[in-house]
Formats: sequence, C-alpha cells, structure tokens
Amino acid sequence: MKAAILTVGDELLDGYVTDSNSAWLARALASRGVSVAAKASVGDVKEHIVEALARWDGQFDLVLVTGGLGPTHDDVTKLACCAYFDCGLRFDEAYWAELVSRFEARGYDIPDNNRSQAEIPTACETLPNPAGTALGLKFRSAATTFILLPGVPREMEAIVTGSLLPSLEGPELPLRTLRTTGLFESALAQQLGPALEALEGVQVGLLTDVTGVDIRIRAGATGAAGSAAVDRAADDLARILGDKIYSTHGDSLARRVGQLLAQRGESLAIAESCTGGLAAAASTAEAGSSAWFQGAVVAYSDRSKIDLLGVRAETLAAHGAVSAEVALEMAAGVRAALHADWGLATTGISGPGGGSQAKPVGLVYLAVAGSGATKVREAHLIAEREPHRRAAAQSVLDLLRLELQRHG
Ligand code: ATP
Ligand code: MG
Repeated sequence: MKAAILTVGDELLDGYVTDSNSAWLARALASRGVSVAAKASVGDVKEHIVEALARWDGQFDLVLVTGGLGPTHDDVTKLACCAYFDCGLRFDEAYWAELVSRFEARGYDIPDNNRSQAEIPTACETLPNPAGTALGLKFRSAATTFILLPGVPREMEAIVTGSLLPSLEGPELPLRTLRTTGLFESALAQQLGPALEALEGVQVGLLTDVTGVDIRIRAGATGAAGSAAVDRAADDLARILGDKIYSTHGDSLARRVGQLLAQRGESLAIAESCTGGLAAAASTAEAGSSAWFQGAVVAYSDRSKIDLLGVRAETLAAHGAVSAEVALEMAAGVRAALHADWGLATTGISGPGGGSQAKPVGLVYLAVAGSGATKVREAHLIAEREPHRRAAAQSVLDLLRLELQRHG
C-alpha cells in the first residue's frame, strides 16, 4: 500500500510552523507497513489543494491531508474537497447538538462560527475526533482513499490512532529502539559496522541528537518471526555497545535512572547551574517520579551557590564557578539540603559568551555525590547554548545511571 501526505497551511510555507504532522503520520503508517511515497505542503488556497488531490488521485492508495478543517475563514480544505468531489454540504444536526452540549459541559457558549464544523460534505464519511471539534473526513475515488484531518497535531493524532490505524490491514511491524548516550554517531557506527551488516530480517536506522543516538530496529515481517528477528538484532547490538545503552526499549534516560533508584529505594536531588532546571524537568516528566525525585535547586549565581547549596566562598574564589571543585560541593550540598541519597550537579559554560582559553564554551563539570565516593566528570560538549544545556542535563543523569549500574 502506498500513501501520500499533503499538509495545508500558509504558516507551514512561511516557516512560522514546522510541519511535524507529516513526520508523525509517516512514522505511524510505517508501523503498519504502509510506506509514504510523496509529501507536499500547500498554502490555504483552494485551487492548490484541488491540484494536489487531482495529481495524487489514482497514483496512491491513501492520501492524508492535514490542516484547514477549522471554522475560520482561512480553512478551505473542506471546500476544496467539495469542489473536487463535486458535492455540497449538509448540516449535521446531531453533531451540532453534541458540540453544543460539549461546550455547555465546560461552561461555555458555543461560538456561532463553530456551526461550520457540523457542515459535512455529502460525499464523505466522518471519523470521530476525541480531542477536538473538527471531524476527520473520508472521501473515496475509484482507486484512492482521501482522509482529511485537522492541523492541530494532538487532534490529528487522536483521529489517526482511534480510527485510521485500526482500519489499516496488517498488525504492527515489531519495532525496538535501543537508546545510547555518550558516543558520537560516527563512533557508534564504526563500532557496530560489521554487526550491522550481518543482521537479518530487520531494518536499522540511527537517529542522532545531542543527547545521544537512538538505534531503531524494525522487523521486515509481522508476528512472532518479526519479533524474534528484532530481539535477536537488539541483543547482538546491545552486546557490542554495553553500558553505552541506557534503554533497550525506547525509554528516556530519566525513566531508567528512576527505575534504578526505585529498585534500591533511594532518592535524587539535583543542583543545576548551566542546565537551569532541565535535568529536573526531565526527571519530573516521568510519571511516578515522586517515588525517587526529591527536588532541585537552580543555583545560577555565586551567591545562590553559597546560600542554598553551602558551596564555600573560598572554593569559588580559588577555582571559579565552573570547576570540578565547585561541582562536587554543589552535588554534596544539594544532597544534604534536600535529604537525598544522591546529589547531582552541573556547572558549565553554555555560551555564546563567557568562554576563555582555559575554560572554553562547551565545557561542563558534572558531579555525583552519594553516601560513599563523590565523582566529577569534565566534559566538552557542543559549544552552542541550547544544545549544550540539553546535552549537559542528559550527561549528568547518565553519570548517576552508570554509578547505579556499577554498584547494582
Ligand atoms: P482548527 O480547528 O484549530 O482551525 P485546522 O484543521 O483548521 O484546525 P489549522 O488551522 O490548519 O488546522 O492549524 C491549526 C494549528 O495546528 C496551526 O496553528 C498549527 O500550529 C498547527 N499545525 C497545522 N498544520 C501543522 C503541521 N503540518 N505540523 C504541525 N503543526 C501544524
Ligand atoms: Mg484553522
């Protein structure tokens, strides 16, 4: 089965919104063995939408269209389809009544221009939208099914997950994601080189980010045979990469750290300077983190490092805020202040300013303090502010993960 994706919206063309819908849809379709053969974006222009529908009609089995289904004047996708399929609109009283009562239940009067969402083209079926008001619309020509979806990602995803994916034949192709951190993609590819070529019955993709490289292993077949091939490949690669892998099933690093802590009944506190709370955000993003996460202190200035974490003024004066010594005192300080079993700390230079020859932009000190030894790691991460902060937050959590695994 071959599919194409059309995303509609002026904001996609002028760059104000990045088209994430087509990437999400392509992944969702791939999980059912449906490959996407073409993608395009057009503005909120009826003629341009009609042109795209006509071009793909008969060429692909499935055409997914997102955007322009809303009640505002610039939403013309529905009208474009009415023109293309030569049909009119009917007013769906039942759906309108449902919308009115949904708004009432939340204490709102429904705006009149929402009436257009109950105007349904006569030539289509509707797909329920559990997350919003614009219904999905399904049109068929002789050889192609067209599905219109709202542009809002959350709503689009709810319709696809609820109505479209279950209707596509074929169970999901087994997929596993090994997640690594601390290795460049090139180094990782080199280590895996021959092993990757020897794998059978799977497709492997490397997805790189400053926080690490994900290895995505997808089976070529469904069912038990596919699962076995994926598991075999995952085992082969995991053996080579050892503790560079923090999850063999796609979990976040914070979740892995949380599991390790919860197994031991221990807790974590974090002192963050350059990362400004990103490590704490990653921790609290995990459901159930209250079982192992005590809290965090964002101590950006020297004063706050002294007042809140008990870092000594002499240490700051002697070594500077970005130093191994200060990182260690921050980790020990937050551990004591928040009564946690483990303390972590970050202090670094994210840039663009503030670097020197001795302490260049990208430098970061990451420290971990436990009941036994304290440890500090000097790392030179990417010298660009936002990615540096994200990479540093990931690296400090990884420092604890390795510590916990070693003394598991
Ligand atoms: P609404 O009922 O909200 O008007 P709609 O179907 O008309 O829904 P649009 O108006 O096209 O959808 O888009 C709504 C919002 O969804 C946009 O402001 C944009 O932020 C987001 N959006 C639209 N298309 C995409 C896309 N391809 N990728 C990511 N976000 C998108
Ligand atoms: Mg809209």
